[in-house]
Amino acid sequence: MRKIATLVTIAGIMVTQMFSAVPAMADTNQNYADAFQKSILFYEAQWCGPDAGDNRLPWRSACHTEDGKDVGLDLTGGFHDCGDHVKFQITNQYAAATLGWDYYEFKDTFKAKGQDQYMLHILKHFTDYFLKLHTDRNTLYYDVGNGDIDHSYWGPPELQDTIQPNSRPTMGKITPNNPGSDICGGTAAALAIMYLNYKDIDSTYANKCLTAAKEIYDLGNNYRGLSKQFGGYYTSSNYWDDLAWGGVWLYQATNDKTYLTNAETILQQNNVSQYYAFNWTHCWDNVLGGTLVELAKVTNDQTYKTVAEGGFRHWMNDVSKSSGGLCSFQTWGNLRYVTAECMTMLAYNKTFPNQSYVNFAKGQIDYILGNNPKGMSYEVGYGSNYPKFPHNRAASGRKEFAPYNESKKQPELNIIYGELVGGPSSSDSYNDDIEDYTYSEGGIDYNAGFVGALAGLTEVYGQSQTPSVIPGLQAAKWLKTTPTPTPTPSGLLGDLNKDGVVNNTDLALLRNYLLNHKGTIDKSIWDVNKDNKINVLDYLKLGKIIKS
Ligand SMILES: [Zn+2]
Repeated sequence: MRKIATLVTIAGIMVTQMFSAVPAMADTNQNYADAFQKSILFYEAQWCGPDAGDNRLPWRSACHTEDGKDVGLDLTGGFHDCGDHVKFQITNQYAAATLGWDYYEFKDTFKAKGQDQYMLHILKHFTDYFLKLHTDRNTLYYDVGNGDIDHSYWGPPELQDTIQPNSRPTMGKITPNNPGSDICGGTAAALAIMYLNYKDIDSTYANKCLTAAKEIYDLGNNYRGLSKQFGGYYTSSNYWDDLAWGGVWLYQATNDKTYLTNAETILQQNNVSQYYAFNWTHCWDNVLGGTLVELAKVTNDQTYKTVAEGGFRHWMNDVSKSSGGLCSFQTWGNLRYVTAECMTMLAYNKTFPNQSYVNFAKGQIDYILGNNPKGMSYEVGYGSNYPKFPHNRAASGRKEFAPYNESKKQPELNIIYGELVGGPSSSDSYNDDIEDYTYSEGGIDYNAGFVGALAGLTEVYGQSQTPSVIPGLQAAKWLKTTPTPTPTPSGLLGDLNKDGVVNNTDLALLRNYLLNHKGTIDKSIWDVNKDNKINVLDYLKLGKIIKS
C-alpha cells in the first residue's frame, strides 16, 4: 500500500510540474465562481418596484409602488441604495454603468457560469428606470426618497409606504436651468453600455437606450454644472470625469468621433496628461479609473496607458497594507474601493496583459473571501464564517423595529447573499454590528466593481469551478427556462445535502455521521424526529420517510 501511495504522490508531483505554466485551479482555495454568482444575487435584494417579488429571493416582494406620484409620474423601479431605501441616482447610475462594464468585459464568463440572464435582467431594471426618469430630451429626474426621513425608518422596504407615508418625494430634476452634468454623464454611460450589451438581444430596446443616452449626454454636456444634492449624502466632486466616461462609451456605441474628441478634450482641459497622478480609484464619485482603461483600449494612446498604469503601481506599491495584506485605502466602506481597483486592473489586463495586475487582484480578493487573519469572508453568505449583522433593512426584515429602534441586536432574518460589506479595519479586525455601518454596510456601488473582479478571476482561475446551490431560492418568475441548477428550498426536513430532495443519499450521509460524528450538521434539518438529538432514531425515521 505504502509503495502505491508513494508512486501516486510522485505521479502527482510530475503532473503538477508539467502543468505549472498553466493558470491552475490549484492556485486558489476560493471558489470564485460561487462568490461571483452570489455577488450578482445581491442586486435582487436591493430591487425596488412592483416586480421586486419576481426574482429569486422569496423574502422580497413589491415595494415603493407609488414612487413618482408626487410629480404625476411612474418612477417605480431602480435599486435601493445601501442599507436604506433611497434611490440616489449617483449610485444607481454608477452601479448600472460599472455592472454593464463588468458584463461587457467578461461576457463569456457570465455565460459560462449561467449568470448572464440574471445580470442582463438586473441591468435592464436599471435602464428601465432611467428611461422613466428621462421624460423629454431636456429633463432628467433624479433621487427618489428623502434621505433624512428614510434613515429614521428601520423596517422592510415592503412596509415603508404604509408605516411611513410621504417619505419618498421626488427630489431632483435636471433641466437646462438646473444642470447636473455629473449625473447626466454617468446615466448616459450606463445607457450607452446597455445598448452595447443588448443590441444583439433586443435591438428595439437597445436603440431606445442609445437615443436616451445621446439626449442625456447632450443635456449634461451643453448645460454644465454639478447636480444639486439633497441632505449631503452623495456630493459629487467634479463632473468632468463623468462627461469623459459618458463620451468614451457613446463613442464605442456609435463610432461617432465627436464623443471621443469631447472626452479627450475634457481630460486635456483637466490636465490628465502623462504626468498626471491618478491616485484614486473607480468609484461613485470618480469614474476616471474606468475612463482611462476604455480610452487606452480604444485609442492605444500612451498618455492614457501611462496614467492608468501609474495608478495601478500606486495601489500595488504605495497604498498602505494591513498586516494581513489588505489595501487600506479609506475607513468608510474600504472594500468598495479595493474591489473596484481589482476590476479596473483585470479589465486593463484583458487588452494589455500584465500578470502583476492579476496577482494583485487575486491577493486582495482572496483576502476578502477568507484568506485573512480572522479567517472570515466579507461577502455575506460566502463560506461559513461571514457577517451576520450587515447593516441592511431589507435583510433585517424586522418590522417590529419600524419605524426605528436603536437596539438592532438580533441577527438579520434573511441572509443577504453576496453583499460585500465595508470590511475590516486597517488592523484586520471586524466588528460584526449592524450599527457599525462604516464597516458593516454594503451597497449597490460596493458590489459593482466586486462583480467584475470576481468575473475576471473566475475567467483566469475558475474555468472548472461551479457555483454552489444557494439554499432557499425560488425560481425567478420571469425566467422561461432554467439554465442553472434549480434553486432548492432550504430547511426541508431530512434533506441533509440540501439538494431539494429527500432520498437515500441523505440516509447515507446520516449513517456516516452516526458512525464517525465528523462534519457540520444543521440540526433543523437533521433532527428528523424532532427530539433535539441526532441518533439512530432519526436514521430509522428518515428511512421510513424515504420509503413512504
Ligand atoms: Zn423599494
